[in-house]
Amino acid sequence: MSSRPVVTRFAPSPTGFLHIGGARTALFNFLYARHTGGKFLLRVEDTDRERSTPEAVAAIFEGLNWLGVTADAEPVFQHQRADRHRAAVEDLLAAGKAYRCYLTIEELEKAREIARAEGRAIRSPWRDQTPSDPSAPHVVRFKGPLTGETVLQDLIRGEIRFQNIDLDDLVLLRADGAPTYNLAVVVDDHDMGVTHIIRGDDHINNAARQTLIYQAFGWEVPAMAHLPLIHGPDGAKLSKRHGAQAVGEFADMGYLPEAMRNYLARLGWGHGDSEIFSDSEAQAWFEVADVVKSPARLDWQKLGFINHHYIQAADNGRLADLVGTVLQARGEALAEPLRQRLPELIGCLKEGAKTTLELADALSFLLKRRPFALDAKTTSLLTDETRARLSRLRETLADVVFERASLEVAIRSFAEAEGVGIGKFGPALRGVLSGGAPAPDLATTLFTLGKTEALARLADAL
Ligand code: GLU
Repeated sequence: MSSRPVVTRFAPSPTGFLHIGGARTALFNFLYARHTGGKFLLRVEDTDRERSTPEAVAAIFEGLNWLGVTADAEPVFQHQRADRHRAAVEDLLAAGKAYRCYLTIEELEKAREIARAEGRAIRSPWRDQTPSDPSAPHVVRFKGPLTGETVLQDLIRGEIRFQNIDLDDLVLLRADGAPTYNLAVVVDDHDMGVTHIIRGDDHINNAARQTLIYQAFGWEVPAMAHLPLIHGPDGAKLSKRHGAQAVGEFADMGYLPEAMRNYLARLGWGHGDSEIFSDSEAQAWFEVADVVKSPARLDWQKLGFINHHYIQAADNGRLADLVGTVLQARGEALAEPLRQRLPELIGCLKEGAKTTLELADALSFLLKRRPFALDAKTTSLLTDETRARLSRLRETLADVVFERASLEVAIRSFAEAEGVGIGKFGPALRGVLSGGAPAPDLATTLFTLGKTEALARLADAL
């Protein structure tokens, strides 16, 4: 194998959103480039002009940027290179490694039928014929070898053998002169200096054909690694019913990009038992050869566990921005002074949150506007005795400095002075303060509400 500096690439076809399978492919290419001190490139495979859309290109770029998997050079747009692809085909024609095929659609259909009946790949009679009128409508086909085998040394799956007789003479240029997919991939990978092709294993059959095209050009064949698919938690092909497929959906569900990078790296690859690792650890450890051969399964619980970790580690100001966006989308605008206190509040409330959506949920009790109705459970807890007790507590709290530690002490001493356990009034207090929305421990609830608001909510209820 060559000692060229490593160049990897991600080569999405812009026909839809960035799927997490594609995102993982991009990430593995990125990690391998970083691991080897090489380069990671991006190529937009928009040769199919009918299926490629600018919206899809934008969605893919946006997904990659969000994930933080960015290329080391400007992206290459495949369709802009059509002249180069055509010139390369001219070279193959001149070398006798490609031929002009004048089969009509009907003739082709017939040849295909015969080939199918005989259980072999289709060969055009024009492999060895010169037409009387070379300018008649035609395609250009690859002149594949009829004997021997093509052997892939896949870095993940090991050796894969193909009998050349089974590989048909694929079209390189269509009748309108448009280059085909397999040709463009080979020419572009070669011109971009790609040394390692890491992609989904739906491309294994293409790999055999592409290998033959490399050999016909006399170019070094890049190393190849074909990644098994990502399956849903039930082991079936990932689909809508599994909850999410697009990277953007995971972002909308409140996962952080660094958590997603960590999680995607663990989908089919790992380093011992490490579940949580930094970007630099992933880059130091990542070896393509360590990717497992069997399909990885999406595991929501593990993703939640990893995201929870990164939320705890994340800067609260940054989380405040993310949560602010979530709240805005929900139509729950944050008023001052809550907005300004948001990072601090998030610091108090993020402990249980696995996503930024859960973080927004955890804030909902703070967003209630007074006066609000109490939920049935709280109302039922507010017996005369409890009301009287909460009134006394309210008086006590009026003299307490609203810091978490002092609030904790105050609540405990109040319970002692009353000669009851906190359980006697705690649930009612929480209900009165939160209006029935989920709320953290009492001291945190009081502290995050602030003295004025907390006392006012108590007064409203009593
Ligand atoms: N454009 C192809 C796809 O999106 C990938 C081709 C390749 O990686 O060689 O499936």
